[in-house]
Amino acid sequence: MSYLFLAFLGSALISLLFFNRQRPRKWRRVLIIIIALIGLGGSLMPVAAANSKKTSQHQVDVRENKAARANSSALKKQLATKKTEASQLTKQVASQSRLVKKQQKASESERVRAASASIAATNQASEAAQQQAAIQASQQAQQAASAQQVEQMVTIAPNSGKKYHLDPNCRGLSRANSTTTMPLSQAQAEGYTLCGWED
Ligand SMILES: [Zn+2]
Repeated sequence: MSYLFLAFLGSALISLLFFNRQRPRKWRRVLIIIIALIGLGGSLMPVAAANSKKTSQHQVDVRENKAARANSSALKKQLATKKTEASQLTKQVASQSRLVKKQQKASESERVRAASASIAATNQASEAAQQQAAIQASQQAQQAASAQQVEQMVTIAPNSGKKYHLDPNCRGLSRANSTTTMPLSQAQAEGYTLCGWED
């Protein structure tokens, strides 16, 4: 701009000198004013152009800033949405893992319950078996006892009275010269009665 202005000033001075020789004083002044106005305008034009360029650049900048800000706010919104989604997913995962844990606990307690039930059943079975065995033993003992009762033998002295003896070494037999044994029922059937020492 300053070069332009200097060039214009030079050309104006040259033309001024040229006209100075040929024109009257009145026209010279008018010419000076016109040249000065034109020069001012010419030198100011680039400034104005630069200013307007700056302004438009500024407007563009403002617009770009606005666009960038809008874009950034949209991105922020997207980010917020994603964050919300992520936190929701985290919550879902947490609740699902809680559910899984609960189910595991439930199945574990179910297993424990089943195991204790099976133990209880085994215990009951073993108790029942023991009872059965006890009953059988008792029945066998009773059978043996009744067999023994059936087989209960007594001692008699055929030539010394009509007494039978449960004890083969009874003092009531000490003077008998011969003794024999027979089942109690047979002795009773033959009229023998229990000895007075053992009554
Ligand atoms: Zn006796």
